[in-house]
Amino acid sequence: MYDTIIIGKGPAGISAAIYLKRSNKHVLVIGKDNGSLYDGVMIDNYYGFPGGISGTELIERGVKQATEFGIEVLQEEVIAIDKLDHFTVTTNKNTYEAKTVLLATGKPRTTLRIKGFQQYRGKGISFCVTCDGFFFRGKHLALIGYNDFMLHELKDMEFLTDKITIFTNGNPLTVPVEGYPVVEDKIIEITGDGEVAKSILTENGEYAIDGIFVALGSPGAVDFATRIGALVEGSNLVVNEDFQTNIEGLFAAGDTVGGVLQVAKAAADGMHAAIALKKILKK
Ligand SMILES: Cc1cc2nc3c(=O)[nH]c(=O)nc-3n(C[C@H](O)[C@H](O)[C@H](O)COP(=O)(O)OP(=O)(O)OC[C@H]3O[C@@H](n4cnc5c(N)ncnc54)[C@H](O)[C@@H]3O)c2cc1C
Repeated sequence: MYDTIIIGKGPAGISAAIYLKRSNKHVLVIGKDNGSLYDGVMIDNYYGFPGGISGTELIERGVKQATEFGIEVLQEEVIAIDKLDHFTVTTNKNTYEAKTVLLATGKPRTTLRIKGFQQYRGKGISFCVTCDGFFFRGKHLALIGYNDFMLHELKDMEFLTDKITIFTNGNPLTVPVEGYPVVEDKIIEITGDGEVAKSILTENGEYAIDGIFVALGSPGAVDFATRIGALVEGSNLVVNEDFQTNIEGLFAAGDTVGGVLQVAKAAADGMHAAIALKKILKK
């Protein structure tokens, strides 16, 4: 069992990991990619790099610094976090257990840019089966997704109904799906009666549904938080001055809590969260 699992290997996650490790805590960092600091992003305003540094190099340096301190940094995608008496973190490859979790997953970028999506978001369109699925028991549900994240949500959905259609929205299905129809067309529009979503219109047909669940790309901090019952405001997690959410032991830092979206602020958040985590781990 880890003291802390940190989701995200960006500036917030790696800074927190370094402070925790140097306090002798057993830490695991899991990150799926370079987050906001992908190829092409040039950082000119961060302390200590005259002439600037590329986003990719900054991430690589951070990970190197962490591993040199003996921190385990895994390249995996987290698809679910659950809490009973401790946290269980499920990735596309494995499950891990920890006393505390720090969410440092940056800002989410996966949404659906299709007609009707914003109009019916929250009105028949949901991002969390665990949170809203109960209201759709026995109904005909659409699940939009194509990968491990979608499969995970599908397993939760099977407890609610057997009338499920998967829509990949033009993405190739990367996981096996048995027993449910899969529509691989691109979605053109979500239509409704003005109050709630009623159907999905694709390039090749129209499908009547009672509810739509979106599990596209990778889940981010807001998806994890919503599932576990942590407070969210817009696309930000709500945290106290110690970067702890309303769920004991669940912390969040960096872009995921909003404020100034910059490397310096993310690194500082990570440090503050680590100092607070250290205190609660001592208890
Ligand atoms: C185009 C662009 C230019 C920018 N320019 C600047 C600049 O010049 N100066 C500056 O200070 N800031 C700049 N920023 C902002 C800066 O990149 C962010 O503020 C900073 O990277 C936030 O750090 P973070 O650790 O919170 O999140 P991120 O750096 O976004 O890291 C998020 C981490 O979470 C991981 N993750 C997310 N979901 C999952 C999952 N499901 N499973 C596993 N891992 C997951 C990602 O793989 C990544 O490791 C720029 C951002 C962009 C997009």
